[in-house]
Amino acid sequence: MPQISDIIVKKRDGVALSAEEIRWTIDAYAGGQLPDYQISALLMAIYFQGMNRDETAALARAMIDSGESVDLSHLSALPVDKHSTGGVGDKVSLILAPLVAACGVPVPMMSGRGLGHSGGTLDKLEAIPGLRTRIDVDEARRILDEIGFVMMGQTDAIVPADRLMYALRDVTGTVPSIPLICGSILSKKTAEGTGALVLDVKVGDGAFLKTRKETITLAESLVDLGNDLGMRTVAQLTAMNEPLGYAVGNWLETREALDCLRGNGPADVMEVTMTLSAQMLVLGGAAASIDEAREKLDLALRSGKALSLFRRMTELQGGDVAVIDQPDKMKLPDHRMEISADSGGVITAIHGREVGWSGVMIGAGRQAKTDVIDPVAGMIFHKKVGDAVEKGEAIVTLMASDDTHLAAAAKRLKKAVAIGNQPVEKAPLIDLFIDPKGWIPA
Ligand code: URA
Repeated sequence: MPQISDIIVKKRDGVALSAEEIRWTIDAYAGGQLPDYQISALLMAIYFQGMNRDETAALARAMIDSGESVDLSHLSALPVDKHSTGGVGDKVSLILAPLVAACGVPVPMMSGRGLGHSGGTLDKLEAIPGLRTRIDVDEARRILDEIGFVMMGQTDAIVPADRLMYALRDVTGTVPSIPLICGSILSKKTAEGTGALVLDVKVGDGAFLKTRKETITLAESLVDLGNDLGMRTVAQLTAMNEPLGYAVGNWLETREALDCLRGNGPADVMEVTMTLSAQMLVLGGAAASIDEAREKLDLALRSGKALSLFRRMTELQGGDVAVIDQPDKMKLPDHRMEISADSGGVITAIHGREVGWSGVMIGAGRQAKTDVIDPVAGMIFHKKVGDAVEKGEAIVTLMASDDTHLAAAAKRLKKAVAIGNQPVEKAPLIDLFIDPKGWIPA
């Protein structure tokens, strides 16, 4: 029988692990037979030494097999999902899932919680009082059959290995690793039963990987392995420098997503949402071209159909629809701090990663596995990069239910915003498209 200490040493020393060693480790950890400290050490060794293609594929497969997979073969249309590699202010999934479902493409979405400095769809959904994301396979299928989409998390039964490793990576500095990201995303997506996948690979200061080159390697690895695992997989690189939209923090982002579903969303959030959704419609066969897909999506948004599906999902998953109908019913925290401009000029940068960590400090994310999220903690920006600002004008308002770390977070956040005198040229929001199989017509 393999020994975990030998496996850790092997990886630490840069030796490739066998598929058997990887499977044994994943099974033993998911089965509760290995302690967090040894898996943390292994994750850190993987972070530093990486994994080759065979190891990454073996990791994804072992993670999938750590639990059940959802069988969606009864569906008449191809299920299609989207997943982001992690950003700040990224509430796209909350808008996209009901929107794509409203156009006839089933979306069996399994998401994650906040990870490192980035937010997570599950935490945003659970900011809606009562909403459950722990859903078993039968319930997931029932919800999907009724409304065309479901939004759920990993459980003890579905990809338990990802549920456990994800929570550990969140607090051990082991998130930005290409094989670990591939294993995590592709195990969830395979197990949920999707037939096709659009990946939103974030590039820039607020993304996990530091360079554009590494990000392209991540996107190519995800596309390659996703297709190998039987999902039609494409990737879109999108800019993640300043936060997406104006809101960062779980409820604040859900509220902004509701604005988007009501047709009043920020332009950058809508552009990313529409681009990814259009690809999903084409992959799912609901539109013959991106242009046709965008027309259908516009209609689903304008008619209110996407919003009413989100409302019904909330109801089916136990959430309080009163805050969907009237988001202002949700009480925002009394502890607030406003950050204003020390000088006039133009906002030249808002560093997404620092913004994300400032949010974690006030309870919008976790610093330890056992931390409980403050659903209403977060911040509202009043400015975006490129906007003019006058001396003393408010740039962002930070808020939290507990003020212990508010001042320290405000100090950090202030440093994340740069003001200059020159007009700025923003990186294009929609960057590279990766589709080696030509699934989407050009
Ligand atoms: N999303 C995931 O599900 N896992 C990661 O590792 C990163 C983003």
